[in-house]
Amino acid sequence: MPYRFDTKCVHGTPDRAYRDGVRSVSFPIYQSATFAHTEVGHGQFNYTRQDNPTRLQLEETVAALEGGADAVAFASGMAAIAAVFELLKPGDQVICSEDLYGGTTRLFNNISKKNGLQVTFVDSTDTDLVRAAITPATRAIYIETPSNPMMNVTDIRACAELAHGAGALLIVDNTFLSPVFQQPIPLGADLVVHSGTKYLAGHNDTISGFVVTATRELGDAIRLIGKTTGGMLAPFDSWLVLRGIKTLSLRMERIGQSALTLAEALQKNPHVKQVYYVGLPEHPGYAVNRRQATGAGGMLSFRVDSRETAERVLKGVRVIAFAESLGGTETLLTYPLTQTHDVVPAEMRERLGINETLLRLSVGVEDVRDLLEDLEQALEG
Ligand SMILES: *Cc1c(COP(=O)(O)O)cnc(C)c1O
Repeated sequence: MPYRFDTKCVHGTPDRAYRDGVRSVSFPIYQSATFAHTEVGHGQFNYTRQDNPTRLQLEETVAALEGGADAVAFASGMAAIAAVFELLKPGDQVICSEDLYGGTTRLFNNISKKNGLQVTFVDSTDTDLVRAAITPATRAIYIETPSNPMMNVTDIRACAELAHGAGALLIVDNTFLSPVFQQPIPLGADLVVHSGTKYLAGHNDTISGFVVTATRELGDAIRLIGKTTGGMLAPFDSWLVLRGIKTLSLRMERIGQSALTLAEALQKNPHVKQVYYVGLPEHPGYAVNRRQATGAGGMLSFRVDSRETAERVLKGVRVIAFAESLGGTETLLTYPLTQTHDVVPAEMRERLGINETLLRLSVGVEDVRDLLEDLEQALEG
C-alpha cells in the first residue's frame, strides 16, 4: 500500500521501514566509514562516501516526497547544486533566473564560467524571455520559484516545455516551498535541488543538500559525481534531516498560516512600503503559484521607508533573530543587501530591487502574535 505524503514524512517508503532488522522505530545512525562483505560480491554497502544506510533511508524518503525516481544527499545545498553542473561540459549554455540564491549566482560567476559554461541570466517570470535566450548550445534551464529574495514566480510547466523542446534539462531549486507545497518533477522538471538546511531539516541545526532526479539514469549520474567528488552527507547529519522531515507537513502548515497573517499585518504598517508574499492576491505571481503549488510558504520580503528603519528593525527585534538562513523553527530576519546577496553584482542587485530598504523574513513556528508584536515594536522603534 503506497503511503500518503504525511505518512512518508514519518516513515519513508513502505519497503524501507525497519531496514535494520531489530525494528527500531527511530531509524539508526550507521556511524561507520566502511561495511564488511561476507564473500566476494556479497555486500549490501561498501564505503560511506559511496553509500550508507542512514543516508539511503533519507534519500529514499526525499525522492518519495518529491515524486522523483532517486535522490542524492549532499553535505550542503551548494554541494548539491555544484554536482548538478558537473553534468554539463565546456561550451554548454545554462539559462537561469536572475533573481537567485546569492551562493548560486556566485557558483555560476566564479566556478561554472571558469569551467567553460555559458551562463545567461534572464527574468524567468517572463517565459518569452526564456524562449528568446535559447541557443543551439542550451543544455539546462535553472530556476527558483518563488525566488530569493524578491519572491518572483516562474511557470515550471512552461519552462519544462521550453527545456525539452531544446533538448535541455529543467532544474528547479525547490527550497522555498518544499515538497509540501510544490513538486516540480510531476510538473516536468528533470532535476530538483534543495538546500536541506532549510525546511527539510527545519531546525536551524544542520547543513545539507539534495538532488532529486526524475529518472534513475540521472540519479546514477549524480551518484557517480557525488561519490567521485565526495561531498556526501554524513550519517549523523542524515539522521538529523530524517528526524526533521517527520514534522515537515506540520511545520509548513503552521508557517504558511503565520506568514499570511504577518504579510497582511505588515501591509498596514506605516513604515512598510511594500510586501512581497506569494500568498497575497495582488502579488504578480499569485495566479501562477496557485496553478503549480498548493501553498505560498513561509518566506516574505518587505520594503521599509528608509535605511534607518531597516537598521532599526534589524537591531530591535527580540523574539526574531537577525540572521542569515531560513526555513527553520526559529523566525529569522535577513538583510539581503549585506548578507545573502552581497556577492550579487551591484548593478544586478539594484535592477532586482535588492537595496538598503529590503528585509527578508523567514517565518518560524512561534506564536504568530509574538512575532507580530516583535515586528511592530521594532518598526516603531
Ligand atoms: C540556502 C540556499 C541554498 C544553499 O544551500 P546551503 O545548504 O546553504 O549550501 C540554495 N538555494 C536556496 C534557495 C537557499 O535558500
